[in-house]
Amino acid sequence: MPSSGREASEKMDVAVVGGGAVGLCAAYYALRAGKRVTVFERGPEGGDNCSAENAGMVVPSHFVPLAAPGVISLGLRWMLDRESPFALRLRPRLDLLRWAYLFWRHANPRHVAASRELLRDLNLESRRLFVELAEGWGFGLEQRGLLMLCGDQKGLDEEAALAASAGELGLDVEVCDPRRLAEVDPDVEMAAAGGVWFKQDCHMDPGAFLAALRDGIRGMGGEVRYGVGIDGFVREGGRVRALRCLGGAGEIEADQFVLAGGVWSVELARDLGLSLPMQAGKGYSLTLPGPAQLPRLCSILTEARVAVTPMGGALRFAGTMEIGGIDTSVDARRVGGIAKSVSRYFPRFAPGHFDGVEPWVGLRPCSPDGLPYIGPAGRAATNAFVATGHSMLGLSMAPVTGQLVAQLLCGERPGIEIAKLAPGRF
Ligand SMILES: Cc1cc2nc3c(=O)[nH]c(=O)nc-3n(C[C@H](O)[C@H](O)[C@H](O)COP(=O)(O)OP(=O)(O)OC[C@H]3O[C@@H](n4cnc5c(N)ncnc54)[C@H](O)[C@@H]3O)c2cc1C
Repeated sequence: MPSSGREASEKMDVAVVGGGAVGLCAAYYALRAGKRVTVFERGPEGGDNCSAENAGMVVPSHFVPLAAPGVISLGLRWMLDRESPFALRLRPRLDLLRWAYLFWRHANPRHVAASRELLRDLNLESRRLFVELAEGWGFGLEQRGLLMLCGDQKGLDEEAALAASAGELGLDVEVCDPRRLAEVDPDVEMAAAGGVWFKQDCHMDPGAFLAALRDGIRGMGGEVRYGVGIDGFVREGGRVRALRCLGGAGEIEADQFVLAGGVWSVELARDLGLSLPMQAGKGYSLTLPGPAQLPRLCSILTEARVAVTPMGGALRFAGTMEIGGIDTSVDARRVGGIAKSVSRYFPRFAPGHFDGVEPWVGLRPCSPDGLPYIGPAGRAATNAFVATGHSMLGLSMAPVTGQLVAQLLCGERPGIEIAKLAPGRF
């Protein structure tokens, strides 16, 4: 276990808290920028976090933030249905009420218009970085695009309107009728009114990406230390001097610090003088090792809000957003809702195909405006930086977040204007 004496003699340039996709990418790009970096992760190697078994999608298609018009009314309707993809566990907790209020304040057209170009730029730059990384590491990035599959004409009309906005933003997108869908993905029988093909989206197995990242970090002389829980930051005179380890296991000194603890960042951020409104958005994934059919493209079943991703010979289905506290319990009815929805779009599947499949649970770190927190911690901790709050886009945006953090650590101007992502914005 680390102790202050031992760590002082091997003081690193940068200490990163959190070994999910975001923390590992921050470490990797900081190493590439010439820093000596160590990641501290309280879980085991390859262990569970929100990055481990998500849907594996890189999504320039997702330029509309989670806080958008219509989301609240849809959410309220869904709250009445125990199998629906959305739940809000309302509890008399100040943090939850504040988050819900801030979400409501941002769920309007003005916020969407003010955010969409930034989200597009972040996702496109991240996609470029994924392609670059995949060339060197070969973690199986599939660049075939994403199909937004619509079960009925109403859904298709809504997606077609979104496709028009995507076209205005310069994204490569095509509205498909059922015949065209069959040409785009001939390997799978679909029962959809149509769909929208976002051609720049990609997919991968996130576990393979995380393993490649770990190897990349170690190959550059960086360290990822598992089983080291961080209790807080030790501040002195407007700077962080050290990390405080859990269980009185000593302090770890460094010149600079990055907080990338996913949904668990809220408590740690307080030590940096920051209030980070954030809620866990619980979701599940179910992976069928031998699916009835294997699509070539990943897809989102739009009305059901279920993501479907081929991963090697397996097929992963992911969905639900349950807001309300750090809780990894499994709601069997909502998991059942995922399984039930699939046959509506892919008739060769039946709910029984999911029998005995163990659901994986992930907690998305959700900010109330649907934008991540990326930037300096602020005046109370001038050598600390925050990278979290990516909600449903944390894998997609991990590389660009890592690159931005590395630029900040080096005192460079970030390649993308990130004032709107400031951790202290609320
Ligand atoms: C069902 C589902 C499907 C999804 N699909 C996609 C998708 O297709 N594409 C996409 O872009 N995103 C997707 N997401 C969202 C994505 O998974 C998250 O946004 C992303 O994983 C967040 O990464 P992170 O590194 O910030 O957090 P995490 O992966 O949760 O990592 C944070 C890490 O910090 C560690 N930590 C926390 N506190 C401490 C401490 N005190 N000391 C030491 N370590 C600590 C934790 O143990 C954890 O390992 C999905 C999420 C879910 C739930």
